[in-house]
Amino acid sequence: MRLVSICAFACLAVPSAFGEGITIVLDFQGPRSEPSVAEMKREFAGIMKDSALRFDFRSRGEASREAISDLVLVRFTGKCELGPVGYLYDERGPMAFTYSTDGIVQPFSEVACDKVTSAVRSAMAGGDFAKSDLLLGRALGRVLAHEVMHILSKSGAHGRTGVAKTALSGSQLIAPELLLGPKDLERMHAH
Ligand SMILES: [Zn+2]
Repeated sequence: MRLVSICAFACLAVPSAFGEGITIVLDFQGPRSEPSVAEMKREFAGIMKDSALRFDFRSRGEASREAISDLVLVRFTGKCELGPVGYLYDERGPMAFTYSTDGIVQPFSEVACDKVTSAVRSAMAGGDFAKSDLLLGRALGRVLAHEVMHILSKSGAHGRTGVAKTALSGSQLIAPELLLGPKDLERMHAH
């Protein structure tokens, strides 16, 4: 099983200024599948359902028109849609990362859609192709939850199971269920 590292960074724990309600601003740099984006939000909400935090999504345009506190910016680079069979994806490097400056985690992540789509494609078989938008969205939701876990826990630490693991395979990204462990949910509130 080929594992792709989710993100790459190391940092120190610092106190958080986040409140209970957090706005996630989605900034797509390239094309994206709207059904996949909808599924990403649904999957993310499912993973975070046992946290006491409330999450809202905004587009970059919406966010520029209102004053928002407790904001997390996530930039999606590359193509957030599955290309035709035979499309070659750049598989090198991590699927996503979160910025840290002088050891302090910043509320700013970047998701490399080509890497996620490549991992998803490599794990798809048979009937999966009929629901490829849904599976890509599910994978993106898990990658997003992983990065938000780093931002809210103010830590580069990883969990042993579920979404918070250091590396996830394509099949783990599209499997019916993958959640955050109780310890990882707890760490998000500990700051
Ligand atoms: Zn990570």
